[in-house]
Amino acid sequence: MSDQYSLQDPTTQYPKPDDSWKAYQEGPGTEQEQHPKPDAGESTYRGTGRLEGRKAVVTGADSGIGRAAALAFAREGADVVLSYLPSEEEDAKEVVRLIEEAGRKAVAFPGDLKEEAYCEQLVQKAVDELGGLDILANVAGKQQTQESIEDITTEQFDETMKTNVYSLFWTCKAAVKVMEPGSTIINTSSIQAYEPSPTLVDYASTKAQINAFSKGLAGQVAPKGIRVNVVAPGPIWTPLQQAGGQPTEALSEFGLQTPMGRPGQPAELGPAYVFLASAESSYISGETLNVNGGMPTP
Ligand code: NAD
Ligand code: MG
Repeated sequence: MSDQYSLQDPTTQYPKPDDSWKAYQEGPGTEQEQHPKPDAGESTYRGTGRLEGRKAVVTGADSGIGRAAALAFAREGADVVLSYLPSEEEDAKEVVRLIEEAGRKAVAFPGDLKEEAYCEQLVQKAVDELGGLDILANVAGKQQTQESIEDITTEQFDETMKTNVYSLFWTCKAAVKVMEPGSTIINTSSIQAYEPSPTLVDYASTKAQINAFSKGLAGQVAPKGIRVNVVAPGPIWTPLQQAGGQPTEALSEFGLQTPMGRPGQPAELGPAYVFLASAESSYISGETLNVNGGMPTP
């Protein structure tokens, strides 16, 4: 069985899209309904004790990149509080099962990150159920494509800002109050921060904000021994993409523009979150780790 340590050709490691990828999902989308099913590392991620005894909160942990991060954290020895929307319970149950199979504690805590009170409760949940918090991975996000600025309603603009930016402000604010030295925060940006698509004006601007927010906060909390870093994915095959993240017609070409010539899979992000969470990256803060198939970044 191959895992993340097997030598493989990255250009052929995962499939390229075809017409069968062109499907639309309502709401936030789920892995249950996504075909082909993304690889979040369920049968490919091998842990080696890199996060033994650590206590993590992962947002968007039910699916996609958040699922890959939560699963990798658990296989490396961390207990995990999972944040997701109540409508994503079926996806979340799979992740809870995978974490428990890894011999770690999984605490499912669904809610809406657009609400400040829930963001604060999420951090408190880790304190109450895990005995503290030393990894905060903010992975949740909202991405809704629109052809024209005239099609972006104030409601959509507001929801994108609240989900992608305000939630970070609220979870980070609550987390730094309880984090001990050695703790780490990892936020999730995007290639969209530097190469905004004409159809993702609101979303792309939140991702640029996340970069600046994270670099500023990194400098502020470094003297406390807390590190803040960012993972910036390129095109990754997750439910968000079928749920209006891309125009449905474009999904048959998803990720082909990258130098690797294929989209990424969530499993390829897990190791990036683990590296930034662990003390292996002890002298790295305010950094952005781009995981995008080789697209140049500033
Ligand atoms: P995904 O759909 O699997 O995950 C997004 C998650 O966000 C959902 O599972 C949901 O639980 C959560 N979420 C959304 N709104 C929420 C709310 N109001 N309250 C609580 N949770 C909420 O998709 P993904 O692609 O894995 O997305 C994860 C992150 O990766 C996002 O921040 C996204 O912007 C970023 N990203 C994705 C790609 C990509 O190509 N897939 C590229 C760059 C960045
Ligand atoms: Mg989901």
